[in-house]
Amino acid sequence: MDTPVLPWLKGTQNAPLLVAGPCSVESEEQMLETAKQLADTGMISALRGGVWKPRTKPGSFEGIGSPALKWLKAAGEATHLPVTTEVANAKHVEEALASGIDFLWIGARTTVNPFYVQEIADALKGVHIPVMVKNPIHPEIGLWVGALERLQSAGLTQLAAIHRGFYAYQSRPFRNEPKWELMFELRRLAPEIPIICDPSHIAGQRELIAEVCQSALDLGIKGFMVESHRAPEKALSDAAQQLTPARLKEIMGRLETRLESLDDDLFIHQLEKLRGQIDQVDEQILNMLKERISLVEQIGEVKEEHQVTIFQMKRWFKVLEQRRTSGKIKGLDEKIVHELFQLIHKYSIHIQINLQQKVHKE
Ligand code: PEP
Ligand code: MN
Repeated sequence: MDTPVLPWLKGTQNAPLLVAGPCSVESEEQMLETAKQLADTGMISALRGGVWKPRTKPGSFEGIGSPALKWLKAAGEATHLPVTTEVANAKHVEEALASGIDFLWIGARTTVNPFYVQEIADALKGVHIPVMVKNPIHPEIGLWVGALERLQSAGLTQLAAIHRGFYAYQSRPFRNEPKWELMFELRRLAPEIPIICDPSHIAGQRELIAEVCQSALDLGIKGFMVESHRAPEKALSDAAQQLTPARLKEIMGRLETRLESLDDDLFIHQLEKLRGQIDQVDEQILNMLKERISLVEQIGEVKEEHQVTIFQMKRWFKVLEQRRTSGKIKGLDEKIVHELFQLIHKYSIHIQINLQQKVHKE
């Protein structure tokens, strides 16, 4: 039997684990009706609903607050599903526990603040309840790991992480850039913590949710927390990204699950051959990088000798433009080429700065 995605939730067979519900609990009726429609899909393992809503912009709907807890719980009881909500401080924890909320999550705006995370951890000492931690808004993995460690230190053992994407100055087409590599980094740093994906807050618009889910699934994610509302366009928060339960069912039903590995001789042989070729190409890349660094050092010495500044803006813009054009002719993705050369340039500058500092010390 497969190990469950989240040990405290019963999944549905051969389908991703799904926690779904509205961004915000808006009324008793809205929560109950949405919950019933979600339960009818037969795909849901738990219901979500935001009660206290941390909003970036003041003046937006900030949640119903405490009265919504019993509406959420009642919707869970009516559909025989466990319920979860977001907590951001000790008072929220206390009230959620008193209302019988089955498990909790910590939101992206709270994970960024160790004071709040510690306050929540302290309030949960001695309580056996599962807690999921969303990644912090900004791509600082240490805060994510730190929050999980604070909860672990408070004695909590049923933990999970939710990947909901990261704010980026330019994250289009998504609301929050997925930065999947950070999800892998969390897996490396905390291999015991299960990770699920929140495609709603990554996508920011419902039209992109299927695509995000498929990417997550292809990368080995087996569970989702998705925002779903009986009438998304009327939602008081995150209207653009919520899905009707029917649409959610359709998206989940169309996802293609891939095999984690395949015990087939031909497949293994093909893969090994191509991987061997990749290893050789990587070796060439490293040799070329070494050659490039040696040139960067020589340029650094010439600049130092003639007392010329390291960063030459005009030259850098020209390099970037030429590499981009050349990459485009070769059919390479512009973003990849741009980011690659930004990285190379960043370290070239570092190398020349280090060189200059060494000369000055001597
Ligand atoms: C939410 O899940 O409704 C929410 C506020 O999410 P996040 O903390 O990811 O922004
Ligand atoms: Mn939301």
